[in-house]
Amino acid sequence: MRAQRLKHLKDGKNIGKYVIYWMQQSQRIHYNHALNHAVKIANKQQLPLVVYFGLYSGYPDANERSFAFMIEGMRDVKIWLERLGVNFVLRIGKSEEMIFDYLSDAHTLVMDRGYLKYQRLMRKYVLDKSINLDLAIDMVESDLIVPIEEASDKREYGAYTIRKKLLSKYQYYRDITSLDVLDNKSKLNLETQDFDNIHLVLEKFNIDHHVKKSDVYKGGYLEASKWFTHFVQHDIEDYKDRNDPSDPKLSHMSMYLHFGQISSLELLERLEIASMQKQINQASIDAFIEQLLVRRELAFNYVYYTKGYDQFEYMSQPWAYKTMKKHANDERPYIYLISDYENFNTHDKAFNAAMIEMVKTGYMHNYMRMYWAKKIIEWSKTFEEAYHHILYLNNKYFIDGRDPNSYAGVAWCFGNHDRPWKERDVFGQLRYMNAEGLKRKFNIELYIKKMKNYSN
Ligand SMILES: Cc1cc2nc3c(=O)[nH]c(=O)nc-3n(C[C@H](O)[C@H](O)[C@H](O)COP(=O)(O)OP(=O)(O)OC[C@H]3O[C@@H](n4cnc5c(N)ncnc54)[C@H](O)[C@@H]3O)c2cc1C
Repeated sequence: MRAQRLKHLKDGKNIGKYVIYWMQQSQRIHYNHALNHAVKIANKQQLPLVVYFGLYSGYPDANERSFAFMIEGMRDVKIWLERLGVNFVLRIGKSEEMIFDYLSDAHTLVMDRGYLKYQRLMRKYVLDKSINLDLAIDMVESDLIVPIEEASDKREYGAYTIRKKLLSKYQYYRDITSLDVLDNKSKLNLETQDFDNIHLVLEKFNIDHHVKKSDVYKGGYLEASKWFTHFVQHDIEDYKDRNDPSDPKLSHMSMYLHFGQISSLELLERLEIASMQKQINQASIDAFIEQLLVRRELAFNYVYYTKGYDQFEYMSQPWAYKTMKKHANDERPYIYLISDYENFNTHDKAFNAAMIEMVKTGYMHNYMRMYWAKKIIEWSKTFEEAYHHILYLNNKYFIDGRDPNSYAGVAWCFGNHDRPWKERDVFGQLRYMNAEGLKRKFNIELYIKKMKNYSN
């Protein structure tokens, strides 16, 4: 592992009965630098290893859909850890509180890294409260290919300012292949909770039960791997022309990346292996790296360096606020309520179809995400109301919601990481999208028909 992934946060007294890895962001075994770092320390000290995971119903926007997906993933993790001789404990409750049941006996705590406000606060809370404990604390970055501060030390304006930095550095950070073998496989008798029966676990939680588990997408490394294998076998060739929502040539990796169930580094490696096995056109490979590396890591840069990434007043650029102010009072062609969107009840069939995809499956094609959000801007009384409605729906229904990409994707619709366009009513200089464009470019009727199948 490259040294830049590691932050040594606290010295310890070199005593303790085990090493503990708090798995929160990188919910996987494969290509997990934090887990591998924990194994290395355990082996050096000849200690057993504990992996701890906390499942908390008070997590922002928690609902049955995201919880089911996460629990499915944790089942994969548990099976693998047992095979590797690692002790796994899962606790239901506030992660950053429950972990203290295990810290006084620990030699070292290893944590992975999160970038959103509450993820950073959780880790800071554990660090601050551990100050008088004997253990050492390390934080390891594993969900980005290029570590966040190594990519850039400031908020970037757009893909054009960060691209060169990422492309020049990412080869250096292809730094993990397999997990070390754990020497000490002693079984410890630690308190843990059973979560094999997903329905029983879900029932216990005080979360939004209206947003049901997706029938289309299941969580876990094995599912992620299956989708990705399909993608490199059948769709990668056409990735450069992926915009047609009626014929999606996409990886569907965003939800797995969101929960850390698969690593973007692994996807990159697998793409390379595939390109050595068969001819894949370079334009498609470059287009995929542009999304997985440049756009995704730009989103992490955005939430990390933008204090108000989740607030209307701060999420975009001065030129965008200026143009929105100028057009604040333009007459909107339609005004809808959130319930109109959720009941697929607007005049626009393509928009309703996109809402069906979102509400019923938990996913939406990238092109339709742009169209969907732009229409909500057009049909809301104010820009601010539009922002809140878009973010609310995004984080409620998408399995990949509540991600740095969620905030960056929504802010993009309001001009962030974009540029001024030709001035027009309502949108001012914000980029505009219309239904005619969908009809002209794609077989949008086919998309609408396909989505209708989910609505029953
Ligand atoms: C209004 C709006 C809201 C969005 N909300 C979310 C969200 O909640 N969660 C989320 O993960 N993404 C979001 N995106 C970004 C993007 O639409 C999704 O990441 C993508 O559609 C996921 O599908 P996929 O994995 O099949 O993508 P693929 O095209 O197969 O791409 C592979 C990976 O590259 C990354 N990627 C692809 N497109 C983008 C992009 N435009 N920006 C940043 N990274 C990208 C993702 O990590 C993705 O999994 C949003 C975009 C917009 C315009």
